[in-house]
Amino acid sequence: MGLSPVDPAVGIILCPDWLLADAETEPIQAGAVRIVDNTVDAVGLGSALIARHPEDDVIDLPDRIILPGFVNAHVHMYGLLAHGIPLDAAPKGFWSFLKDFWWPKVEDRLDHEMVAAAADWACTEMLRSGTTTFLDILEAPNTLPEGLEAQAGAVERSGLRGILSFECTERSGAAVAAAGLKENVRFIETCRHVRGNKTTSLLSGLISIHTLFTCSDDFIHEVFNQALDLNVLLHAHCNEGIHEGEWCEANYGHRTLEHYEHLGVAGPNFLASQVVHLSATEQRILSDRNVRCSHMPMANAEVGGGVAPIPELRGAGVTVGLGSDGYVNDLYEVARSAFLIHKARLQDPGVMDAHQVLAMATTGGSEALGLERVGRLAPGWSADLQVIDSRFPTPTTTANLAEQVVLFRNGQHVESVMVAGKWRVRNGELVTGDPDAQRAHLQQQALRLWSAA
Ligand SMILES: [Zn+2]
Repeated sequence: MGLSPVDPAVGIILCPDWLLADAETEPIQAGAVRIVDNTVDAVGLGSALIARHPEDDVIDLPDRIILPGFVNAHVHMYGLLAHGIPLDAAPKGFWSFLKDFWWPKVEDRLDHEMVAAAADWACTEMLRSGTTTFLDILEAPNTLPEGLEAQAGAVERSGLRGILSFECTERSGAAVAAAGLKENVRFIETCRHVRGNKTTSLLSGLISIHTLFTCSDDFIHEVFNQALDLNVLLHAHCNEGIHEGEWCEANYGHRTLEHYEHLGVAGPNFLASQVVHLSATEQRILSDRNVRCSHMPMANAEVGGGVAPIPELRGAGVTVGLGSDGYVNDLYEVARSAFLIHKARLQDPGVMDAHQVLAMATTGGSEALGLERVGRLAPGWSADLQVIDSRFPTPTTTANLAEQVVLFRNGQHVESVMVAGKWRVRNGELVTGDPDAQRAHLQQQALRLWSAA
């Protein structure tokens, strides 16, 4: 038998001024990426790729940089409905924020139409600012059942790669907690058995719980075993403020991550978001047990939560992604906050350089979410990328490109976005969906929520 013929597939070759294929390797000037179907086939110098594949479509992108699409590892799309909501007074502290405001006035009043409208607009915001993959956590007891399905239509229309989960909690009683778990299980199975048959679907699910102070040990065991059975991650908010650690010490005699270790949950099947207030023991548990983490510097600041010890965790080898947490969904803003806030906290301009921030925004996020071959432009990896403006007012070099991007770009500089080989934003325009109609719908739904509150 002879050698198999050369792959006859025709690809497209995207040729920007600069290719930043991942956060670790040096950017390539006049680099290019070749895409076949939904996957990256090759990266290298544009001239070399064109010579090797003369039959391909070549798209020249002068004054542009191509980099991987961002992974937003923690979103609450429904959070958009509360942006600007009128308050009698600012909540005093984290516990009051939840108990007096967020639970009764936002989460408990959400219905299907509200969360669907928020999902439409959130997907548009994420796509237009370079995000191609995200994890959303919905907590809205009155959207049960089918709250995740109410969001799923919007995500599918957008073309984003989305992991959706419902945040189970016993704060409204055992029946609501059980219904929340059922919601996750049903969605995960629908994605696998119904959507999975459509090769275009980029939707999947995982299981979320709220916190230790809203979930009993028995319930956490049940949920974690279900996650293991389904081979999905269990996600929980951990120590967003000082409240949860103190509550755990008072109720269990040890801190939050120690309790998850005691329950057998702390391990690679566990995704701990926030991780703001950590004892030395808790930091050790995260690294020793290979717990996955996500970091949301802007949202933690907004609620007065604090600053998570992320350089320390990354230094200890912990996988960390970045998240917007229902606040500003432009991951450039989140990345810039991560770049700045740890320098201020540690009074050290040498910590958290631009490469580390870009790693968290791409491969860190995909690894935290347990995704494979997402977050890097390399042969065999998903063709998820963004094309951004490279016209900085100072010269760009291989040495400074990452810093130029992290410090001086934001969502407004994103020109085009591709997810799994399909353009979803092209020349600044959303390919599918009407942003004006989405905005009007969200305005109407937000007003409905606010008048109920
Ligand atoms: Zn959150």
